[in-house]
Amino acid sequence: MDDRIDELRAKGVELIAGSVTDPAGVTRAKYVPLRRLGDFQRSGMGVSPSWSVFCVDTGIAFTPTIGVAGDLRIRLDPDSVRIVDDGIAWAPGDLTDQAGDPAPLCPRSVLRHAERAADEHGLTALVGAELECTMIAPDGSPASTDPWSPYGIRTSLEHSAFLVDLAATAERAGLSIEQIHTEYGHDQLEVSLAPTTPVAAADAVILTRIVLGRAAARHGLRISFAPVPFVGAAGNGAHLHLSLADADGPLFSGGEGPHGIRQAGGSAIAGVVDALPDLIGVYAGSALSALRLKPGNWAGAVACWGLENREAAVRFVAATAGSPHGANAELKLIDPSANPYLAAAALLGSALRGVELELELPPEVPENPAESAAAPPPLATDQRSAVDALERSAVAAELLTAEMVEALVAVRRHEIQTFGDSPPAETTQALRLAWSC
Ligand code: GLU
Ligand code: MG
Repeated sequence: MDDRIDELRAKGVELIAGSVTDPAGVTRAKYVPLRRLGDFQRSGMGVSPSWSVFCVDTGIAFTPTIGVAGDLRIRLDPDSVRIVDDGIAWAPGDLTDQAGDPAPLCPRSVLRHAERAADEHGLTALVGAELECTMIAPDGSPASTDPWSPYGIRTSLEHSAFLVDLAATAERAGLSIEQIHTEYGHDQLEVSLAPTTPVAAADAVILTRIVLGRAAARHGLRISFAPVPFVGAAGNGAHLHLSLADADGPLFSGGEGPHGIRQAGGSAIAGVVDALPDLIGVYAGSALSALRLKPGNWAGAVACWGLENREAAVRFVAATAGSPHGANAELKLIDPSANPYLAAAALLGSALRGVELELELPPEVPENPAESAAAPPPLATDQRSAVDALERSAVAAELLTAEMVEALVAVRRHEIQTFGDSPPAETTQALRLAWSC
């Protein structure tokens, strides 16, 4: 431990942050001076169980089983500490009980459990994340009023100092960014990450949010991860790409099914599609989520799949020379208000459920679902329907635990009470920075 502390001290680190990301999708942290790094692992830092029902605003959505009494600890692994700002290093924490066992409401442990379940099925899962976000001015107004060119070289080069700083900050944090581009939406940016094991992928999402926020601040910008940052603006997605492999190789290529999908790969996609109505409250369940999930937004609000179909909930990416990481299924429905650990656990868990139940791959929807007679109707996306479906869902309880579903439902119901009758302009303003790090 002393060596690790000396190493970090030599790099100017003074404070260690350990974070947990809660069911509302908000990342919260405690800090210790560098000399107490070992304590962050051994005893952890104390938090109230109510941390699991903290809301997107300052509300606390207590439930009959989640209250003020008790103590949980954030524990972190000193080897996973990364430098994220001058003097500050960060690591993702586990929420544990005082003895050190995972707390039932630890999202990271729920995902670790799904990762182990894959292992028990003889499957290796990889997850690649895309982070869309919006640059905003320090006072919360749009960062620029100039005309925007989607993916424009001008719109990106005008932010070159920030983007270079972002790349350097990521490098310093040991974060491997795969690609950066300015997106379709005004002042919108996307960072994509290489596939890795599920818990590491969700950790990397949080690290990327932190790195983006820190680099942006040095250039007079803030970063919004709201599903829709301003009324009428393009939405921010938090798409996750999933690939699975068994001892014979990838499940999504080399088989007899459409585009080379193997039997078990087809069942995995079927599992993901089948569970969408139950899990939409996990993937896109916040007060701003429904604003994004409209036809034409490439947000995948229809429970179907199709090859490179950007309007389908699951966009299938086949194994070609153009997909260096191989075939994968991208769940486009997810937005950044989702806890990335829970979203990845739901995605992987529903894929495994499909494999276990040997579900049959539904017919492909190769065209825009809005123009296809074969496509199912759009999903019910309004927050009330999404939260009610989640509360009723046996699948959600099986994949995420009943306790976690209780917490998710509680924090989202608080949003319904608080924002359900507000004009969207007020809600976007109130929640513009809710998921920023
Ligand atoms: N911004 C879109 C979304 O809300 C996605 C655009 C894209 O396909 O990259 O998910
Ligand atoms: Mg994108």
